[in-house]
Amino acid sequence: MFDRLSSLVIALTMVAIAAIFAALTGGDPLAIVIMAVAGLVAAATVHSAIPAVVPEPQSAAPPAANDVPASLFRHPDFAHWVDQEQEPLLGTADNIVTIANDAAVRLLGRHIVGADVRTAIRHPAATEWLSRMQDDALPETVNLIDFPRPGQRWTMRIAALSGSENIIFLSDRSAIDAADRMRSDFVANASHELRTPLAAILGYVETLQEMNGETDAPTRDRFLSIIEREARRMQQLVIDLLSISRVEADRFRRPTANVDLAMIIRTTVGQLSDSEPARAKDLVTKLGDGAQPMLGDEAQLSQLAHNIISNAMKYGHAGTPVTVELVREGRRVRLSVSDQGDGIAPDHLPRLTERFYRVDEARSRSVGGTGLGLAIVKHIGERHQGQLDIDSEVGKGTRVSVTFPLSSKG
Ligand code: ADP
Repeated sequence: MFDRLSSLVIALTMVAIAAIFAALTGGDPLAIVIMAVAGLVAAATVHSAIPAVVPEPQSAAPPAANDVPASLFRHPDFAHWVDQEQEPLLGTADNIVTIANDAAVRLLGRHIVGADVRTAIRHPAATEWLSRMQDDALPETVNLIDFPRPGQRWTMRIAALSGSENIIFLSDRSAIDAADRMRSDFVANASHELRTPLAAILGYVETLQEMNGETDAPTRDRFLSIIEREARRMQQLVIDLLSISRVEADRFRRPTANVDLAMIIRTTVGQLSDSEPARAKDLVTKLGDGAQPMLGDEAQLSQLAHNIISNAMKYGHAGTPVTVELVREGRRVRLSVSDQGDGIAPDHLPRLTERFYRVDEARSRSVGGTGLGLAIVKHIGERHQGQLDIDSEVGKGTRVSVTFPLSSKG
């Protein structure tokens, strides 16, 4: 097809030829003028009717330089998000650190921005990973052992963005490792604690068997009472192990039952008086007349009180008072148990609630202790939003107290 310009040229040419032909043949001048004007109008109509040929738009044209998407790192929301992250986070372009959040600066230093990421994160595993980033076989997460200090472990993860940009996430796993270590130490300690009485029981049973009934009655009775004591120690240990695992499992479940702490303490003191008659007369209670209402787990609160009071009865000197007191302190109630015993040296105080920690192992064993009593107290106290305080003076005695929030009914 003709384009607009060619059509116009053809139309004008035709008009001109017609006009010359009319003039040469001696036509009427008016008819010649009319024909010329009509021809021009036709040409103009043709010109406007034929659409101009517009070049096709190039839909897949490459973007101009200033259309390239801006780096995510320069987006104001990105900087905002990065600084809210608690864990270290780095943005890199061509392996150069271009952005580092506060946590990353705290961990690696302010100088890292602008540095090669392999020098910013000085660790052989990180360097190797960053140098082989295109390799599909690389693991998603890298372990940085002994980073940044010996004994610590961090992990590194990378999110690839467009171009050569990456986000590097660093995460501290040291606390998780410590918890794992504590768990395996606990299993090892528990096994050791169970093995000791078990070995004693088996030893005395074998001795009795070897004597084949030839033992005198007092020796046999002595052996049997040792077997019984060791078996009871094992039984108490199993009870305490079950308690601690149950209390730990309930750790994040807030108690919802309405209980009266005064009534729980009264009942517990009564039970201990019955089970420890030698010390029952030394128990002094100052519990007041009123109720002390709180949200709690009755069995656990009773166990907490039992452990603290029985420790005071065990470690306080025989014949000296063990005072059990309940005191209101505003919207809280304080349970305190005081004894007059050897007391505890200050350096032991922070460790008393660790599982199996004892100041004097032989003493604890001789009074039937498992080393778990105060660990159980700590967990039960925490579950009830209680504050545990241990004050002690060597040669004078110890006061253990737990302060609980009262419920709105109080
Ligand atoms: P145990 O079963 O050995 O008594 P606990 O966890 O109850 O274990 O207590 C840990 C250690 O704290 C005890 O072994 C003991 O050394 C010390 N202790 C606890 N209560 C007292 C106290 N009232 N007086 C002196 N020492 C105490």
